Amino acid sequence: MGFILGLLGALFGVLLAIGIIILLIMLKVRSTLGKNAFKEAISVMKNAKDLEKQEYARKKDVSGMTKLLEEPIQRDFSDFNKSVLFSLIEKDLIKIFTAIENKSTNSIKQDPDLDLIYSKISDQIQDMKNEHIDKKFDNIVFHKHAIKKYEKSNGMATITTSSSVEYFYSSNVKDELAYSDVKKQTRYTCEFVYVYDEAKIGYEKQAFGVHCPNCGAPLKKLGAGNCYYCGTHVEPINLKVWKIASYKEE
Ligand SMILES: [Zn+2]
Repeated sequence: MGFILGLLGALFGVLLAIGIIILLIMLKVRSTLGKNAFKEAISVMKNAKDLEKQEYARKKDVSGMTKLLEEPIQRDFSDFNKSVLFSLIEKDLIKIFTAIENKSTNSIKQDPDLDLIYSKISDQIQDMKNEHIDKKFDNIVFHKHAIKKYEKSNGMATITTSSSVEYFYSSNVKDELAYSDVKKQTRYTCEFVYVYDEAKIGYEKQAFGVHCPNCGAPLKKLGAGNCYYCGTHVEPINLKVWKIASYKEE
């Protein structure tokens, strides 16, 4: 006990000494630079804050190769339509933001559009509840979308997209930037997958983190079948459509 108190005392002493040193340095800087230069230094620091805010509110560009990639995608999927994909990005992200804001999965639980990422969002919401985290997304407006990447191999095709979006953001996460008077301008990268031949997909990619709706065990197969763990019959997921498989704010 005495040892701990001594340690705390020493720690306090060190902190006090550091405080005094900082104060002395500030006074020294002030007397060396003169009052005006000192004020200027303070204003530089303030400007850095302003710049941070400006960057927060600066509309973000999206870069992609939509023109170049549209053709090979259309060659593989003749009914592919980029406008439909782009509106799906907006629909999916708004549903996700709403679920996160409400900290409730009720609105997305049975949503086939979100089949492949439901488990991930549900985990995230559970973490937010455990840590009492609140996030709000208001007045969401999308600006631009682009296709960044297209891959097709082993039974599955993946389109990676980039989207710019703005919203009023608020959060109680420590150190997370949020301003109430300006909208956050940001960008999201999403992946959409289309499984055209489930038999060809390797085991590791097969389930995308999809879980049994009854017991929560990870599903080994996306097609129809029974959960290997609890035996519940799991409805097959329609994989022959473009479905969001991941999303990330940049
Ligand atoms: Zn199960």
